Amino acid sequence: MREVYLDYSATTPVKEEVVREMIPYYTEVYGNPSSLYAPGLRAKEGLTNARQQVADLIGANPAEVFFTSCGTEADNWVLEGIADQLKDKGNHIITTKIEHHAIIHTCMYLQKYHGMEITYLDVDEEGFVSPEDLENAITDKTILISIMMVNNEIGTLEPIKELAAVAKKHGVLFHTDAVQAAGNVPIDVKDLGVDFLSMSAHKIYGPKGIGALYKRKGIMMPSFIHGGAQENRKRAGTENTAGIVGFGKAAELARVNLDSHIAHSRELRQYLWDQIQAKIDLVRLNGPKDFDKRHPANLNVSFNYIEGESILLLLDAAGISVSTGSACSSGSLDISHVLAAIQVPMEIINGTVRFTVGDFTTKEDIDYTVDALAKVVDTLRKLSPVTGKEGW
Ligand SMILES: *Cc1c(COP(=O)(O)O)cnc(C)c1O
Repeated sequence: MREVYLDYSATTPVKEEVVREMIPYYTEVYGNPSSLYAPGLRAKEGLTNARQQVADLIGANPAEVFFTSCGTEADNWVLEGIADQLKDKGNHIITTKIEHHAIIHTCMYLQKYHGMEITYLDVDEEGFVSPEDLENAITDKTILISIMMVNNEIGTLEPIKELAAVAKKHGVLFHTDAVQAAGNVPIDVKDLGVDFLSMSAHKIYGPKGIGALYKRKGIMMPSFIHGGAQENRKRAGTENTAGIVGFGKAAELARVNLDSHIAHSRELRQYLWDQIQAKIDLVRLNGPKDFDKRHPANLNVSFNYIEGESILLLLDAAGISVSTGSACSSGSLDISHVLAAIQVPMEIINGTVRFTVGDFTTKEDIDYTVDALAKVVDTLRKLSPVTGKEGW
């Protein structure tokens, strides 16, 4: 059976060039990078090189890049770190209703255990945050604003430069979760004017279990993991040397291939959407209609009268991997907070699927997928108790 992977926003395969760079760091270059003898120094060189590669992907200085265990840790660190660092200045954080759970659940934790007050900004029906709404939400107690660069479910590209300018005008620190943005849109932290930015290797063809936080030079923030002096005393724990080296290589490939990656993703995403519209009726595109304002590989589609879960399972039986684009992917039946925030009607939310193409996706993969999808949708609609075209 053909296998088609269309869930690149969940994770990506590790590119062979990346694996090749990593292997020696498990075998020959196994020294602890903190050790002062030659094998340690060689491992340290690997870290230094990778830090430069990751910095280059986002236009940062290498001293501003701190490796973490994942994107989630980078998000947790900045929220908890700034809540602690600036506790005498205020207790208010502003974020949005469509953030990843790594942000939302950390905010809920800070509210429950650290007395923080959180404002969750609304978004419009395509998922955009308004700079004006942000400005209106800032108070003299606001210490941090955290708004994602690209939404992981509906692909919305937020106007980060404008939003960061509002934060700067009011002297408030600005963080962006760029886990979906890195390697998919050009990023220059200096041009964007952000103070912090989170990334993760496994979303850019690197290994799982390694992420990074960009922290602009000069900003004070305590460690999140306490212990040794690694990462310039900011993130303790013996470094995941091979993971970091793999992240570095993945970042370099992402930077060098950015234009061709974007062009390939956009072409196949457009083809997928054209084919779906040609072969299946009663479909609805969620997120920005203007494809220039969305993640180049993301397509989020609702199929009326049927359950996304059922579509996922039947496509899986045909060898095709997609996501329901909601928390359902975790096995729970919670509805997607993102689709709810953009006011997708409840019964339609349930019939939503997220497709994300990637570097290894081919046109034949899309043809195979849309063929299977048309059959699956037809089968499920025949079984659906509510089929009937009124109300769509
Ligand atoms: C995947 C993802 C994360 C979490 O990154 P991990 O490295 O898997 O912990 C955070 N934010 C967004 C937007 C993501 O897509």
